[in-house]
Amino acid sequence: MVQSVSDLNREEIRRALTELVGQDQVCVDEDLLRAASVDRFKKYMAVNGIYIGPIPAALVSARSAGEVAKVLRFANDHKINVVPRTGVTSTEGGLETVVEDTIVLDGSPMNEIVRIDPVNMMATAQCGVVLQTLEDAVRLQGLTTGHSPQSKPLAQMGGLTATRSTGQFSTLYGGIEDMVVGLEAVFPDGTICRIKNVPRRAAGPDIRQIVIGNEGALCFITEVTVKLYRYRPQNNEYRGFLVDSMDDGIDVIREVVTDGFRPSVCRVYSEEDARQHFDDFYKNKCVLIFISEGPKAIVEATVAEIDRVVARIHHEDVDPVRIEQWFSDLNWGMDKIIAEQEWMRTEHNLGYTTEISANWSDIGEIYEAATHRIRTEYPYAADLTMLGAHSSHSYQTGTNLYFVYDYNINCDPQDEITKYHIPLNAIIVEEALKHGGSMVHHHGIGKYRTDWTEQEHGSAYYMLRRLKDAFDPNGIMNRGTIFKA
Ligand SMILES: Cc1cc2nc3c(=O)[nH]c(=O)nc-3n(C[C@H](O)[C@H](O)[C@H](O)COP(=O)(O)OP(=O)(O)OC[C@H]3O[C@@H](n4cnc5c(N)ncnc54)[C@H](O)[C@@H]3O)c2cc1C
Repeated sequence: MVQSVSDLNREEIRRALTELVGQDQVCVDEDLLRAASVDRFKKYMAVNGIYIGPIPAALVSARSAGEVAKVLRFANDHKINVVPRTGVTSTEGGLETVVEDTIVLDGSPMNEIVRIDPVNMMATAQCGVVLQTLEDAVRLQGLTTGHSPQSKPLAQMGGLTATRSTGQFSTLYGGIEDMVVGLEAVFPDGTICRIKNVPRRAAGPDIRQIVIGNEGALCFITEVTVKLYRYRPQNNEYRGFLVDSMDDGIDVIREVVTDGFRPSVCRVYSEEDARQHFDDFYKNKCVLIFISEGPKAIVEATVAEIDRVVARIHHEDVDPVRIEQWFSDLNWGMDKIIAEQEWMRTEHNLGYTTEISANWSDIGEIYEAATHRIRTEYPYAADLTMLGAHSSHSYQTGTNLYFVYDYNINCDPQDEITKYHIPLNAIIVEEALKHGGSMVHHHGIGKYRTDWTEQEHGSAYYMLRRLKDAFDPNGIMNRGTIFKA
């Protein structure tokens, strides 16, 4: 726990916040405050009703950028830690309130779709708009954002931008960093900045990228404008193959992508990971998946390329209908979260993930090295019920790996993260860095990869640290996130 350095105590903070934004926007309900002290990194403790961190002083609902500015200015003046939040699907501890008497500032009431502009192909949404809601609205006009993280039914535009999120169709549309045209953000001194919507400019560095991925450690995002694309699901083509190894699958994806084709989905699942997704047809093989979308001629050319490249390796075709069916049930709404809670409670078993990226030539070695170390060095490997990975986001120069590990919990709930999640995550992160990769592909650094932030950035850490010092000199923004507490 980090002690508060504020000149105000818990009661004084609550009173001042009530004066600033009104009583109905300041929640001090103890159960809600406890829940607001963690995110999914501590999901097993939470499901067992155990909250060991400092419980926030208040959960404040913000209804406008002006209110965000008021709260941040007040917190900055009195050195009170602030944790921004929107959809609460964070997985890496980004929402944990490690400082005593923190204010959790909730942007979810800012939930208006401001504008859908089909001529200039962009949509503007406040930070609390759920991505699924925005996607449903633009689809009514035959358009799509192209953004489809698995958390689409729950995650909101502010958090999606703050974490540098990516989606299932990223090989075609890119990550959120490729989608954001302009945005509005509020800094700790109360300054409200709007970055205008233009197709490109060379007016100095791209300042959007300071805000995108800041994880609430530099500023609060209040509005986002994203690009739109034409939605043509009738042209979609699904392809699935059983292949002999991850290396074979990754080689096929590399060739298709570096030849200049952009299927929206390119994935390969290790045998173990395939078992949990495709139990009825995977036959102890790795599963390779493609979806091609867009104008018909482009789809046809992309499918021809996939078939040409895959023909070179030993493989078996999968009925495309099975891939389409599997894909249609991939996203997570509250129903799956509740089912997962029930599973954890009754089975004392859970699954976590660690996602990294690397160049084509290094990714296979990272997979082998990390899984080998976990199986041979990790003292509680016998408790693992699944260890596998898939590559799901590919680029001209390389790809990601999404490691998935499930385990039985043979300890007290409060020891679960130190016995299992933290050491397993550490092995994967260490191997990614050792092989020249990135320790985090799309979930953000949160509070559990900060030990390696300096190593991740090397000499460029200077720039990252300077940004924090410049924009948040009092260190009030989400202490312990990106940077060590
Ligand atoms: C089942 C499941 C599937 C997932 N699938 C994906 C996936 O496919 N791709 C992917 O990228 N991620 C995925 N995630 C992770 C998560 O959904 C993303 O990180 C998402 O972007 C978080 O959005 P949110 O609105 O829920 O943010 P929150 O959980 O509320 O916050 C996330 C982080 O952003 C900060 N933050 C939130 N709002 C703001 C704001 N307005 N201004 C500044 N900082 C803010 C918070 O402080 C925190 O550090 C998944 C999570 C779950 C639970």
